[in-house]
Amino acid sequence: MTALVRPAARAGGVRPSPLAEAISAGLRPGVVPLTVGSPAPELQPTEALGEALARVHRDVGAAALGYGPPEGHPELRAMIAERSAERGTPCRADDVIVTNGSQQALDLVGRMLLEPGSAVVVERPTYLGAIEAFRQYETEFVPVGMDEDGMRTDELERVLAADAGRRIRLIYTMPNYHNPTGRTLSAERRVRLVELAQRYAVPVVEDDAYAELGFDPVHRPTLAGLDDSGLVLALGSMSKVLSPGLRVGWAVARGPFHRILSGLKERSDLLSALAPQLAVVDLCRDGGLDAHLARVVPRYRERRDAMAAAVDRHLGAAVARTEPAGGFYLWLSFRSGLDTRELFARAVRGGVAFLPGGPFHVDGTGAGTLRLGYAGAGPELIDEGVRRLAAAAGEHRLA
Ligand code: PMP
Repeated sequence: MTALVRPAARAGGVRPSPLAEAISAGLRPGVVPLTVGSPAPELQPTEALGEALARVHRDVGAAALGYGPPEGHPELRAMIAERSAERGTPCRADDVIVTNGSQQALDLVGRMLLEPGSAVVVERPTYLGAIEAFRQYETEFVPVGMDEDGMRTDELERVLAADAGRRIRLIYTMPNYHNPTGRTLSAERRVRLVELAQRYAVPVVEDDAYAELGFDPVHRPTLAGLDDSGLVLALGSMSKVLSPGLRVGWAVARGPFHRILSGLKERSDLLSALAPQLAVVDLCRDGGLDAHLARVVPRYRERRDAMAAAVDRHLGAAVARTEPAGGFYLWLSFRSGLDTRELFARAVRGGVAFLPGGPFHVDGTGAGTLRLGYAGAGPELIDEGVRRLAAAAGEHRLA
């Protein structure tokens, strides 16, 4: 950039994602991509989406290629409302704002609630895309620890009680199949989290991008379903269940939050593309989405099983791992404290890529952790990838 061009202070610190190198290493031929955070090509409904787009083009024509309502196509909003209600989030079509992926919804929520001097509570670790979206608004982060039952609500309570200056404006959480750990918030903690949010009047983002990708039949209440005060903003996405390139995500918001978010959405990009929205409606209607899920979820479960078994076989007691009940990710912590950024270069030379865990932490911790994704490779390749990882780590089964 020439010396004459001066970016705004807010933008001057923007750097490429700290995981860009890891993600591109996962795309190299011969490298097992345990980096992947989206559905494998064979688990996307590519053909059905192509047919749906063709029908939209034929039946709707130019109306699908023009401007439309900023909050999204009414049929899609109605479908999202119906599915949300089935999962326990009371929702009318009018509550839904369709966004350009749920990533845009994170950005808009940040714009609505965060500013210099504010703070946002996140899990330690948390989704890197949320850290980066919120960081743009010059906010601070307050990490809250996790265990196998998700965010530690006792710690959350301490953090909220200590916030005498009321700087905390938002609690960001992924209750189901968390990215990057795969953990799920227990039913009791969901109740507790909503009680605390209400007591301290702090809005909550319930980021549920993986909601429909559960392997166990256990039904846990949604945070938005437990809340009767309009404090919970529920975010969803078609990226993990169908295809990320559709860029179909949404926010469910009521009252003043709805009005502000929909105004910010319109100011940001007028509206999200209508043709993908209509193709999603076409594909999902008459049980189409359930049929697709019935095909892919067992495949993800197989991959989860293969990865968990491979970690136990090849790394054994050298690591602690999570036990994801859905979603795409398994999280490892090396007991020796091995630095996974250093491990990364050796692993790629050995033919496997993963995401080092440090960037998912807002407090500089997590050097000994890493994220493995099982969505992008079949069971055999997963086993081979984990074997290569163990070889690169030079750690042997201790048990
Ligand atoms: N939230 C979470 C937890 C995610 O993992 C992702 C994708 N990695 C997103 C939001 C954003 O997804 P999209 O914008 O494609 O809907």
